Amino acid sequence: MDKLNIVPFVSVENMMRLVNAIGPERFMKELGLVIEDDFRRWESFDKVARIPSHSAEGVIELMPTSDGEVYGFKYVNGHPKNARSGRQTVTAFGVLSDVATGYPVLLSEMTILTALRTAATSATAAKFLARKNARTMAIIGNGAQSDFQAIAFKSILGVDKVRLYDIDRSASLRLARNLVGTGIEAVICESGADALEGADIVTTVTADKQYATVLNDNMVGEGIHINAVGGDCPGKTELQKEILLRSDIFVEFPPQTRIEGEIQQLDDDYPVTELWQVMAGEADGRKSDRAITLFDSVGFAVEDFSALRYVRAKLQETGLFEELDLLADPDDPRDLFGMLLRAKEREKLAV
Ligand code: NAD
Repeated sequence: MDKLNIVPFVSVENMMRLVNAIGPERFMKELGLVIEDDFRRWESFDKVARIPSHSAEGVIELMPTSDGEVYGFKYVNGHPKNARSGRQTVTAFGVLSDVATGYPVLLSEMTILTALRTAATSATAAKFLARKNARTMAIIGNGAQSDFQAIAFKSILGVDKVRLYDIDRSASLRLARNLVGTGIEAVICESGADALEGADIVTTVTADKQYATVLNDNMVGEGIHINAVGGDCPGKTELQKEILLRSDIFVEFPPQTRIEGEIQQLDDDYPVTELWQVMAGEADGRKSDRAITLFDSVGFAVEDFSALRYVRAKLQETGLFEELDLLADPDDPRDLFGMLLRAKEREKLAV
């Protein structure tokens, strides 16, 4: 990695090896701590709402941030109908760069990493917002993100019972199968209301590009923590508005969440608390056992930055990367064209 033109690249194959080598539970726990660290130094980051390109079928977004030393961005899409053609709803890749030179220092797959960071962020938020000793979680929407959510909540909070509901029962069966042997007991439920019976936490992680009502007001009892993950785009929400009016609402970056989150249903000046302030001890999290807390998650660039930073820190010890010849690096920096000419000469000699 000393060669200036070489950038470490973490492929999907190597990401899977990395997660399996570390173990998903430990990965999530360690990543949660990195996210917490970065949220505590929130004010040192350049922040901007992600830059979307919407279409009828979905969205493609760029998510940049920098802490002044390292710059990072993620490319990510969200296409709810992709599953019908055998594709993922969400795919992603990301880059970290050295601010001093502008040179990239990491290129990584982020489809798997996004699921890990989303789940680690959710569980870390719940650590501050859910009732202490929460052990049972309802998961509504049992697609690609849901296994990661279950494992993160087990690892970071000790949740060991999940109550599953999906409009497609085969999705719940798939999730329950994947959780066998994790120490998490999974119960498949007949409805969202059934899933919420006895739950301390509910995670909504459905995908549908519409104002959906995955949770309605009378399903939500006192003291519950709502981890609302699926509503993350203009025109795409999961909760009935009345629930928001009864909840203490926590968000990542208000300018982004007001456009994309559940709170797009509320006035622009409706009071919300920034999650980083709770983690930094500057604002209250849960105020009582009877309060309803809501983490209106949309996914923010700092979480991706944390995830890439975590992966980068593991590269030397694991060697799980390839060397990518990504940057043109002529001997004389000004002689870029000469580098082309010399390459042509070499090709001629090789014939
Ligand atoms: P997916 O398509 O793999 O799974 C979604 C599941 O939801 C499917 O099994 C579907 O049958 C189910 N579903 C749809 N409507 C439902 C309803 N009304 N009730 C119950 N189940 C329902 O999608 P995924 O990759 O798991 O992503 C889920 C959502 O999470 C997406 O909307 C995605 O954009 C969002 N997401 C958010 C973040 C974040 O940081 N907040 C990060 C990643 C993904």
